[in-house]
Amino acid sequence: MTRATSTTTHGPVRAVHAITLGEVQVRPKNIEGTGTPMLWWTLTARTWSPWLPVLAFVIEHERGTVLFDTGQSPDSLTDPGYYPGGMLGWVYRRQARFRVPAEQTLTAQLAALGFTAGDITHVALSHLHQDHAGNLAPFTNVPVYVAPAELALLEQKTPELHGVLAARIPPPGVTLTPVPFTDADEFDLFDDGSLVLMPTPGHSPGSMSLLIRRADAAPLLLVGDVTYDPELLSRGIVPDVGDRADQLETARRITELTSSEPTLRVLAAHDPSALTLLTQP
Ligand SMILES: [Zn+2]
Repeated sequence: MTRATSTTTHGPVRAVHAITLGEVQVRPKNIEGTGTPMLWWTLTARTWSPWLPVLAFVIEHERGTVLFDTGQSPDSLTDPGYYPGGMLGWVYRRQARFRVPAEQTLTAQLAALGFTAGDITHVALSHLHQDHAGNLAPFTNVPVYVAPAELALLEQKTPELHGVLAARIPPPGVTLTPVPFTDADEFDLFDDGSLVLMPTPGHSPGSMSLLIRRADAAPLLLVGDVTYDPELLSRGIVPDVGDRADQLETARRITELTSSEPTLRVLAAHDPSALTLLTQP
């Protein structure tokens, strides 16, 4: 299964679709961390996870069609200059490997839903890692929301050290829009409470999640790479990637949110069960 859809009959959110934009294998510590430094497990890891989906989400709202994350670029598999050279490029290849079958390109997955990239009115990125910001090129005329703390990575001397391929982000003609978070650390996309962006830092400094509230269906929290498995998150187990203290604080806040809203479903970008979680009644 590479796609799943949950539709609603009332309220401004009409449908939420999960789509698969490539697949990834990562190292075990990238899923279930124990506090091991990233450089250490990158050098010593010998095993890979199973192939996991690279998920993105299309949300049909009465006022627009929102794309949350854009998946892995097929260019990453064919363009020899896609990754940095030297030691840094070697580190990228040690940490993750990808495949993007023809039916899992953004164009193909949108077409299967009856859309083209031109139908998307808003894009929001959970963070700027390659498998979330890989297919931005078509979005030259729509807002592409990124958290300010994530945009700040592009100002660093070597964004690649933070997993951001700055030579490709943003692509020509694409403007990244800083999310205007309120003092309450929220951005309500359509001012109706149905689609709310919130910072969930740790995996990367500006990682953010999208809370979807629907009139007659369970609320959803799209968390990007905050976790690979919501069950681990609920036990306070976070990946050995990024800032551990921030990740644990984000895990605590999400656990708090799920206990105050027991029907909330946490959908992670590389969790194969997110597809069934989305469609379960
Ligand atoms: Zn990531």
